[in-house]
Amino acid sequence: MNAPTIAPPDTALARCVGAGRTYGTGDRAVVAVYDATCSVGASDRVAIVGPSGSGKSTLLHLLAGLETPSAGTVTWPALGGHPRDGAHRVGLVFQAPSLIPSMTVLENVELPMLLGDTGPTEARQRARSALDLLDLDGLRGDLPQELSGGQAQRVVIARVLAARPRLILADEPTSQLDRHTADHVADVLVQVSDEIDAALVVATHDRAIGGRMTTVWPIHDGRLRPAATPSSMPQPTEGDPA
Ligand code: ADP
Ligand code: MG
Repeated sequence: MNAPTIAPPDTALARCVGAGRTYGTGDRAVVAVYDATCSVGASDRVAIVGPSGSGKSTLLHLLAGLETPSAGTVTWPALGGHPRDGAHRVGLVFQAPSLIPSMTVLENVELPMLLGDTGPTEARQRARSALDLLDLDGLRGDLPQELSGGQAQRVVIARVLAARPRLILADEPTSQLDRHTADHVADVLVQVSDEIDAALVVATHDRAIGGRMTTVWPIHDGRLRPAATPSSMPQPTEGDPA
């Protein structure tokens, strides 16, 4: 008798199958993403690269479960459910630092854990060690307004680190930073993803970030092109604004 066939577990952290997103209806409908099929596996390092308006943020929001697809499906097989239904499984880093102005750096880093199922003692411990790891321990008591742009983004990354998600999604995380600071923040993002063995997907038009990932998903006019490696992407020509 044949042994029963057991399907291997689906290890994708996030998967889009024919996923599309249209904003508005009728004459005013804008298709931001068409028919995207892609998946993010454990420890993947992906850059979604395309010009402004090409659909990068929309695709990232679909992967985060922040937007509902208007066509196709988005699932999170290895996360065991929708990211919004469970704490800490997906960590988000946005373009503009998203710290709560009235809370200190330490409180900002603790907050998502306290809103989840982490007790206050453990939340404090994890927040402190995340801030230590990113050399931010001296800023624990500061308010966000006292931080530089690069420091604020590193605090956001510390907040992600402390919550230990399995998938980190970052939308243009360095676009408001100068070149030197952007490079540092990009390094920290990769370092943190390595540290907690999380997959990392970054939407960016910053080639320096793209070069730090192992896979590039080019997107144009809402259409994902075949995945590429960073070295196979066209090189910038002179005068190209990065
Ligand atoms: P990118 O991040 O690459 O700049 P977006 O995903 O933000 O691109 O946008 C893709 C397209 O969808 C653009 O044409 C944009 O104007 C449109 N779009 C994005 N969000 C909305 C929205 N909430 N309502 C209407 N149109 C939107
Ligand atoms: Mg965007």
